[in-house]
Amino acid sequence: MIIDAHIHLYPDEASTDPRQWAALRKENYWADCVAPVKGPTLQGWASPKKLLRDMDDARVDQVIILGWYWENPDTCYEMNDWLAAIRENHPDRLLVAAAFNANGGEKALDDIQRRFDQGFVGIGEINPPTQGFAYNDRWLNDALELVAKRNKFANFHVTEPAGHSYPGKIDTPFSSLQNMAAGHPKTKFVFAHLGGLLPIYELNRKTKKDLQNVYYDTAAIPLLYDPKVYRTVCDIVGSERILFGTDYPLKTFPKKQKADFYDQIESIKNTNLTSNETANVLGLNIRSIIEQ
Ligand SMILES: [Zn+2]
Repeated sequence: MIIDAHIHLYPDEASTDPRQWAALRKENYWADCVAPVKGPTLQGWASPKKLLRDMDDARVDQVIILGWYWENPDTCYEMNDWLAAIRENHPDRLLVAAAFNANGGEKALDDIQRRFDQGFVGIGEINPPTQGFAYNDRWLNDALELVAKRNKFANFHVTEPAGHSYPGKIDTPFSSLQNMAAGHPKTKFVFAHLGGLLPIYELNRKTKKDLQNVYYDTAAIPLLYDPKVYRTVCDIVGSERILFGTDYPLKTFPKKQKADFYDQIESIKNTNLTSNETANVLGLNIRSIIEQ
């Protein structure tokens, strides 16, 4: 069983002219990530049809389409409507998580309540520094409690404090993430991109305790780290807390200049994880989260 817990998908109008689409919605950060004015981009684009074909080619059973960390709460509502329709057409293969911006206040909270009623499996990706609110924002706190109550998950974009600069690299302080997770012990968190290597700090006992309700996804890992990272993180936090994710349709193997699931699955299978660990990472862990 293979479930990709971290992909993105956008409407045709957004992929045809991303800068124009973003300008109309005041989503400059997204535009700079997916269609930078200068330099090449690793962004790929997919329609639901292409997505399903790529899933079939790599034998991916299900994907979770995450919302983006929109700066404007109205974009969250608009895109959540769009995701709800996508899910309705393919409820067996395409799962969805709701975009959330705490600056929408009560309306944002009502929106995710309604999305859970519609069958959304979680909220995220959330990136407070980009979206303009704090990790201890009161509406975010309420949303995280609702996530726990409804047995969903909350996915946060996390970057590594050291390393190269790239679109989407913004400081996401480990101390804020740790305090947030410790403050909501019943909430299931997913810290994306292997938590920017935050799991390595779980060698500290207090940090380990604070982060026991946190999972880490592998989205975009081939772009960021040596494949040894899978074994290292598994040794520290256990394979039960690692979720396969790609960041599809991002081109995570730039030499190939195409986005697919196959290479990332192979790169995980080719590390020295045991077959049980591989099965946990590729699908069993996320299945147990979303089926509870
Ligand atoms: Zn991300």
